[in-house]
Amino acid sequence: MTHKNPAPMAVTRLVFSAATRLVNSRGYGLVDKWRHEVLASLLPRRCQFCGSHSADQAICTACAAELPWNYSACPRCARPQNHRGVCADCLAHPPAFGAAWAPFQLQAPVQQRIHAIKYRADFGSARLLARLMARAAPRPLPAQAVLIPVPLHRRRLWQRGYNQSLELARELHRELKLPLQPGWARRLRTTADQIGMDAAARRRNLRNAFAVDARVAGRCVILLDDVMTTGATLHELARACRRAGASEVWAWALARVA
Ligand SMILES: [Zn+2]
Ligand SMILES: [Zn+2]
Repeated sequence: MTHKNPAPMAVTRLVFSAATRLVNSRGYGLVDKWRHEVLASLLPRRCQFCGSHSADQAICTACAAELPWNYSACPRCARPQNHRGVCADCLAHPPAFGAAWAPFQLQAPVQQRIHAIKYRADFGSARLLARLMARAAPRPLPAQAVLIPVPLHRRRLWQRGYNQSLELARELHRELKLPLQPGWARRLRTTADQIGMDAAARRRNLRNAFAVDARVAGRCVILLDDVMTTGATLHELARACRRAGASEVWAWALARVA
């Protein structure tokens, strides 16, 4: 049987394609989120670490307790230590940020998860670890606080396709209702790979590598990186924030190298 009047079909197709275009152009994030939530509600909840059933969490309480939490650390640089107070290095060479905090030490299994986030786009791990980070975050946060992830140079961003620190920052923004301004910091030049460099060489390597928007003036800036090794990157970015007029700068990282 042929359609005597093809007009209604054509109109339906037109409306459908226009609606799809509208959703794709304007509401993609929403559709994506909705699809993620529907899938999550259909799949049985399992702990991402041991595979056991877990009521409503992606990690069971036993595995969460086993993670390498950075309980005792220098308040200025977040380096693990077994005494209270600012460490000798920070007293001798104070970093440009006023406080630092990292909930984890860079050890298994957090280390492997961070590697997967950085090199295999494992955004599930990014969401999980950032959610744990948000729950442990120091409170209250200053009213004027703004979250800025450490930016990648545009060439590195183009190679990798995403900035792992921004992926973590999105989750912290959602969980902590913390204003997120990834566009307020830019990396002006690519820097040499820092593996094997000591703290002084890292600082030299990063000199004037960042530009920060003047809108940070008078605000408490919380910088976010995935890993804090010596703190050189966060120190240099904090210096740029200070130059731009930030009243306070804190450095946050998911994990700290001991
Ligand atoms: Zn578990
Ligand atoms: Zn310190």
